[in-house]
Amino acid sequence: MAKGPRKPSRTQLREQLLASAAATVLPEAVDVCVCGGGAAGIVAAICAAEAGASTVVLERDLACGRPILATGNGRCNLTNLDVRAGIFNNPVFAEKVLGPGSFAAKDVLDFFDACGLATGFESEDDSRIYPLSDQASSVREVLLARAERAGVMMACAREVTDICAGTVTFTELFSGRTGKLAATSVVLACRDGFVPAGLEAKPFSPALCPLACEGLPFEQLDGRRSDARVTLLRDGQAVAQERGEVLFRSYGLSGIVIFNFSRIALPGDTLLLDLAPLVNEESFASMVEAAGSARGVIDPAIVEVLGDVKRVSCTVVGKAQTEHAQVRQGGLLTAQFDPATLMARELPGVFAAGEVLDIDAPCGGYNLTWAWKSGMVAGAAAAAFAKA
Ligand SMILES: Cc1cc2nc3c(=O)[nH]c(=O)nc-3n(C[C@H](O)[C@H](O)[C@H](O)COP(=O)(O)OP(=O)(O)OC[C@H]3O[C@@H](n4cnc5c(N)ncnc54)[C@H](O)[C@@H]3O)c2cc1C
Repeated sequence: MAKGPRKPSRTQLREQLLASAAATVLPEAVDVCVCGGGAAGIVAAICAAEAGASTVVLERDLACGRPILATGNGRCNLTNLDVRAGIFNNPVFAEKVLGPGSFAAKDVLDFFDACGLATGFESEDDSRIYPLSDQASSVREVLLARAERAGVMMACAREVTDICAGTVTFTELFSGRTGKLAATSVVLACRDGFVPAGLEAKPFSPALCPLACEGLPFEQLDGRRSDARVTLLRDGQAVAQERGEVLFRSYGLSGIVIFNFSRIALPGDTLLLDLAPLVNEESFASMVEAAGSARGVIDPAIVEVLGDVKRVSCTVVGKAQTEHAQVRQGGLLTAQFDPATLMARELPGVFAAGEVLDIDAPCGGYNLTWAWKSGMVAGAAAAAFAKA
């Protein structure tokens, strides 16, 4: 049988991408320079270019849109029909940008519809939306194709180090040289990149990650999963409660509920777990009596280690696996930006979009909704500023 062409090795692919980045020749000046070619940056660049602005994306990585590939476990939970401003850390500012109610989700879906992406719900009773292909790569590829059609220049392997008086300074990762690009408008979309002079930021900290905990034999439970109602207690008072799957790890707890709690939990807080949330106390007691333990209600391996599964508690030590955290809390203080345009009030021509701003939300497609929608607002406004 004839063999197809061999796939390039990682090293070959890296060299190809570096060579292609080096072959991209930048103009001296541009209407809009977008710093960071992730979710928010690509959408901002598309909107700017489609509004008639010459647009360059400066991206540190060897290719644009790579962060999208890891989202939703490789499936990309791109939005949620139930986007409420209250879900964000800064609801007033978020609502001014996103619009009321489900407007943001509609805008996101219209945008991706125009990109040629088919989308659908996770399940009938779920408001989370995924590409029908179930592949995050579909989302990235339709975005890159639309950006190319719009005439966006993607300049990869260039790390932005400064923006000042309409000039963006960057380091070429393929040559080590410093480059400069004059831009009438600059959109900051580099997530946890640098903070330009003249703007203030709340320190970045990772969130949507597991929690390191103590007080349970976690080593013995490692890898076990259970449905749970989890209550976060501080000084004996309930601070939050959510139901969902928890995953026991040797260092503590993981799972979406725990990820969400990682945005607010502090060392010393207590996590109270009801591992049989769908069985009321009375039925639970009679089942335990009938079976001799809770082994008929939840995973017997968990029952063997914990005994009681209705009221299990442990103490939060801190965040864990932060290198894989899904969001960064903190970022550029939103009060410095006009929510109608996302332009910095004191730095005309400087815009921001995505996580570089101090906006974050729990799991469920909300963070990407923010990235896409803030990218649309900043990109269109950056083009209008440059063309005015
Ligand atoms: C594993 C994982 C799964 C996730 N799953 C989901 C999900 O299913 N749904 C959801 O809503 N959210 C999800 N998120 C969160 C979501 O991916 C982010 O909120 C979103 O990508 C933020 O978009 P952004 O454009 O601000 O940042 P990014 O998409 O991270 O893009 C920032 C870009 O800027 C570049 N950059 C950084 N510094 C510089 C610099 N100095 N110069 C040039 N370029 C620079 C980076 O290389 C990167 O390409 C997930 C996150 C992770 C990590």
